[in-house]
Amino acid sequence: MIDLHSHTNKSDGSLSPVELIALARRKGLQTLAITDHDTLEGYDEAVPYARAAGLELICGVELSTKFRGQTVHILGYFFDASSNREFRGHLSCLQTARKDRNQRLAAKLRELGLSIDVGEVERLGRSQAGRPHFARLLVKKGYVSHVQEAFDRYLDESAPGYVERKEASLENVINWIHQGGGFASWAHPVRMVKKSGAPTESLFREMQCKGIDAIEAYHSDHSPQNQAEYLAAAAKLGLAVTGGSDFHGDSKPHIDLAGVSLPAEALEALRRIRPGPASQP
Ligand code: AMP
Ligand code: FE
Ligand code: FE
Ligand code: ZN
Repeated sequence: MIDLHSHTNKSDGSLSPVELIALARRKGLQTLAITDHDTLEGYDEAVPYARAAGLELICGVELSTKFRGQTVHILGYFFDASSNREFRGHLSCLQTARKDRNQRLAAKLRELGLSIDVGEVERLGRSQAGRPHFARLLVKKGYVSHVQEAFDRYLDESAPGYVERKEASLENVINWIHQGGGFASWAHPVRMVKKSGAPTESLFREMQCKGIDAIEAYHSDHSPQNQAEYLAAAAKLGLAVTGGSDFHGDSKPHIDLAGVSLPAEALEALRRIRPGPASQP
């Protein structure tokens, strides 16, 4: 079995890298990609444990950006993890932007009358402290009764507490991945396909013009119909396909590691991708 989408507690998953590798072995996975949001720390820490367990571990990352004005996630995969020093520099800029946003968000919440100190949030979320940690703190302090209420009343893009985070453009995100020696896949396209109402094939084609190499056709949020549709559209356009569970541990308890598996032929096709501008149509 092959699972190319998982998170550790270095981003918003609940398992440490060593715990994730142990679970991957128990599930019988042959190949696992760690795709934390904005960081390679979880992958780096997991490397020796995966080697000891005889598990193929692929270096990945999940980055947020905007496409047609909406948030989309782009997965970057580095089958040769050695050549991404410059890419790591871009990730550290994203961490700086996140820290700056967190300061401004805490100040905004204080303006709204809540007693929130950014240090408290960073203790909860460490290098990846973000809105989910603000939400948990608001619950802990009794300002709201659950996390969703924290988003609805304060943290959602449409709520009064929202502040912008400096994000890279879609083109930049894809270029960084290519220049780092990786290839880019559009994560869980179902979210955008459903919201936009535009035909799947035209969205995929537009993404392909931005330089995307693959589509995440297999994902826990995809129905069998979604999957079949995305596979057909990707094949028609000559895009590769990726897939995985998007396992987050206790943070998303309904998703099992290896609950979605990428077919071996698809993994072999990914190994043949030569990343870079040449992959654009
Ligand atoms: P951040 O990267 O710190 O801006 O936080 C983004 C994360 O917050 C997303 O990955 C979601 O897990 C969560 N999130 C964003 N908007 C909402 C919402 N309206 N309701 C629940 N969770 C949300
Ligand atoms: Fe996540
Ligand atoms: Fe995602
Ligand atoms: Zn994910």
